Amino acid sequence: MSELVIEGLRARAVNVPLQYPVKTSVGTVATSPLVLIDLVTNGNVTGTSYVFTYTPLALKSVQQMLQDLAAVIKGMPLVPRLIEQALDSRFRLIGNTGIVRIACAGIDMAVWDAKAKSLNLPLVELLGGKARPLAAYDSHSMDGIELATSRAKTAAESGYAAIKTKIGYPTLEEDLQVIRSIRAAIGPQVQIMVDYNQGLTVPEAIRRGRAIEQEGIGWIEEPTLQYDYAGHATVREALHVPIQMGENWFGPDEMHKALSAQACDLCMPDLMKIGGVSGWLKASALAEQYGLPMSNHIFQEFSVHLLSVSPTCHWLEKMDLAGPILEPVLEFSDGKAHFGDEPGAGIVWREEEIRRFLV
Ligand SMILES: [Mg+2]
Repeated sequence: MSELVIEGLRARAVNVPLQYPVKTSVGTVATSPLVLIDLVTNGNVTGTSYVFTYTPLALKSVQQMLQDLAAVIKGMPLVPRLIEQALDSRFRLIGNTGIVRIACAGIDMAVWDAKAKSLNLPLVELLGGKARPLAAYDSHSMDGIELATSRAKTAAESGYAAIKTKIGYPTLEEDLQVIRSIRAAIGPQVQIMVDYNQGLTVPEAIRRGRAIEQEGIGWIEEPTLQYDYAGHATVREALHVPIQMGENWFGPDEMHKALSAQACDLCMPDLMKIGGVSGWLKASALAEQYGLPMSNHIFQEFSVHLLSVSPTCHWLEKMDLAGPILEPVLEFSDGKAHFGDEPGAGIVWREEEIRRFLV
């Protein structure tokens, strides 16, 4: 087979409605702003991926960055490592973080997707693995006691062995009420994880953590500012419950700093911020060296493939940020993610829906 070459890239901005807004202790994501990437090759292969910009304010800049990057990769062979290195060296001086890294990671994902499709393999098989049902937890928001309880109950009834709820209510008593209400509704067998989304100071995280860990929860996520690795380590030292973090690591280098500082017991890189498929593979090697169970953060479609080849694979986070514009290639039943027949990562656009939400 002659070598495939990249011909161009299309980046479309959409703002997709969410069934439940993502409410956190530090702000709400009301809709899902996504930039959809189609990487066109000279063969009958198009790589597809999306990136999530958290706020619609960043949609146009990420889209523009992607369109500008098309010129850098046009004419390059479809070789993920070569393209990763080309983009990495291009941005060494300005710094490969923020919107730059988001755009580069989106391209990296699309390149790996195209590579897998060109070989007619699911991504997991290109990476040397095999698809299998993966245990997923249902990931919820700071929904208030009633909705938090009913969402947890629904998830438990449909077979999830774990759920996550966001807390950081004005008082510790409210945090405890929500956790106890969920526990009463789902029984002792289903795990509850909690996420503070960086909302507490270090002493307050220790105060609340000491009370919350009596409730038998699976982990406390980002109790304090994400960049404060020493603060996380202090909280971790004071508590028995595992500390989880990772969704804000921009690259494996940040992850390495956090792990060196003993900031967490568990890790959950974000596929986009960590640097796409190429960045994830480095992160999963780090997690193995430090012996840390590794989960994902959003990007559930690509992440099932990557968790399947990660040595310390822990939980798949089920949080559906792109559902309305995707064909349901990834399916959930009995608390597990089922995937693997489709070549590539299984991102298949629903074009009619995309037209509805174009920005
Ligand atoms: Mg989180």
